[in-house]
Amino acid sequence: MTSTPPTTASAVFNNKDLSNWMQRNGDPATWIVADGIMTVASGDIMTKELFTDFRLHLEFMTPDMPEATGQAKGNSGVFLQGRYEIQVLDSYGIEVPGKGDCGAVYDQFAPLVNACKPPLEWQTYDVFFRAPRCNEDNQIVDPTRLTVLQNGIVIHNNVQLLGVTGGSAGQNVREPGPLLLQDHGDLLKYRNIWIEPLLLEGSDKY
Ligand code: MG
Repeated sequence: MTSTPPTTASAVFNNKDLSNWMQRNGDPATWIVADGIMTVASGDIMTKELFTDFRLHLEFMTPDMPEATGQAKGNSGVFLQGRYEIQVLDSYGIEVPGKGDCGAVYDQFAPLVNACKPPLEWQTYDVFFRAPRCNEDNQIVDPTRLTVLQNGIVIHNNVQLLGVTGGSAGQNVREPGPLLLQDHGDLLKYRNIWIEPLLLEGSDKY
């Protein structure tokens, strides 16, 4: 997938500072930014801008932690609307990735295939996110849907989410939400993050 943002995209990371981001409690975000790259530090961060349906592009790099295993090996996460975590982890080489491995919708859906690159290489997520739809009584009639490409390979094909994932920054799935990046204590790097808001539907004209 191209990493060039469309003109309608929101450059949620401006490649210079974290002025578009804040901590969960609203305090200023304090991750390290240098050379257009942000590095995890001191807590989760989330965008000030909120999103409903959208296309997301971001790039991440896991650190090299050869002694670490499982969830301790380069853990972070990309929370869509602050509620649904696409796992970020060093899962390189795992033959059959599971619901906790890189690319998983955390604890809900394993990636279809292992599309991971080795640590210290840049990887991409391209996400097509569709918020849940409600009827007039505000009941959800069509759940949150998600398609994800990792490094250009489809790892989720229009999955219907079962609800929010652990660590969600809010339960009201009817509201727009931020993009949230997880601090799990490991030195993940992120760059080139943009979100293109999508219309909820096209016109009804023939
Ligand atoms: Mg995580």
